[in-house]
Amino acid sequence: MSFSIDLDNKNFLTGGGILSEYIIEAREIEYKYPDGTKALDNISFKAKKGEKLAFLGPNGAGKTTLFLHLNGILKPEKGEVIFAGRPISYRQKSLQELRSRVGIVFQDPDDQLFAANVFQEISFGPLNMGLSKKDAEIRVSRAMRQTGVEDLKNRPTHYLSQGQKKRVSIADILAMDPEVIIFDEPTASLDPKHKTQIVDLLDEINREGITVIMSTHDVDLAYSWADYIYVMVEGAILGEGIPGRIFSDEILLKEAGLNKPMLLEVFSMLQKKGIIENEIDLPADIKGLALLINSGSHTNKKGNGDD
Ligand code: ADP
Repeated sequence: MSFSIDLDNKNFLTGGGILSEYIIEAREIEYKYPDGTKALDNISFKAKKGEKLAFLGPNGAGKTTLFLHLNGILKPEKGEVIFAGRPISYRQKSLQELRSRVGIVFQDPDDQLFAANVFQEISFGPLNMGLSKKDAEIRVSRAMRQTGVEDLKNRPTHYLSQGQKKRVSIADILAMDPEVIIFDEPTASLDPKHKTQIVDLLDEINREGITVIMSTHDVDLAYSWADYIYVMVEGAILGEGIPGRIFSDEILLKEAGLNKPMLLEVFSMLQKKGIIENEIDLPADIKGLALLINSGSHTNKKGNGDD
């Protein structure tokens, strides 16, 4: 079978001609900042197409540094980043192409937004990719609709609220029509209402088949949202697994300084009091827990990985 990557219909074949299950991977990457700070130490991870992946870890764990490797902003000293089955190339043209397919939404929108108004801001990516003005406008309208910023179209980006800036920075990336979107602490410094809106938006984006990767400190969010979790501490991956397994691993939680999600704390208390049986799967969310309390039935979405 021939070696090919079909850029148009996004069918990716690897060198062996086998359709790769993973859209993006890091293999044993190491990185030191110019001042000598070792930020990444032998990091490997894989994201499946359409997966929701969370990186959990304290400040300084290396999450942002890792993310900056995934679209080639930083280049590892050792190891490699694989996109669609092939190591990424650091040539200017390849990087530009990669960045339209792997987008990063920065934690602070002010690090990302630079154009005078919202329309110009969101148009920049598609125009820069070489799309015609008409095609770019179609992309921009769609991205504005998805993120609910149509009413802000002519507003100066500078005067938007934090929540509005966040949505515009997501529209920026969506307008490029990427296959992977990486969110660095997407809910940090948002109030509960805006946090819910952003999480709903992430889910909507994911339902379209886009792989969504996020970093967060929020164990409740990671538990309820992610398909799979990597735990990072001091530039290394300390553990990985489905949420139920990660949050059942008391040693890992202690070593990483992570709390248990509130839902699981309540679940354990109810088990200790004999209100919920011991041999039951973990609830996926508050509704699942309520169901367990009311009827004794159970959900196995989050499982503890032992089955
Ligand atoms: P996280 O996103 O998990 O908070 P970072 O990737 O920002 O972690 O940081 C990882 C490590 O790299 C930390 O020790 C941090 O101080 C250091 N670091 C981050 N950016 C720089 C930089 N530009 N120069 C030097 N060290 C940096």
